[in-house]
Amino acid sequence: MNCNCKKDLEEKLTERFKEQSPLATVHGTELQGYGFAIVGDSMKVLGYMPVKQSAMVPLKSGATKLKTTTQNMFFSFCPFCGVKA
Ligand SMILES: [Zn+2]
Repeated sequence: MNCNCKKDLEEKLTERFKEQSPLATVHGTELQGYGFAIVGDSMKVLGYMPVKQSAMVPLKSGATKLKTTTQNMFFSFCPFCGVKA
């Protein structure tokens, strides 16, 4: 991503977590939904949304079977500030 939203949000959420759980130690926050992607000729960390698709697929026997696939759709823009990814 071309912004600091992930890092900024993780820091803010960690601070809130510390306020909510002051007796705990070693607080940490990691936003999920970010992964490495090849953009041009470099690796970048981009936000993504998992996509699950399903369909009833015909079999040779004539019956049908539920087929499900899962893939990730990367964001073209930061979902928090709108800067192009
Ligand atoms: Zn952002």
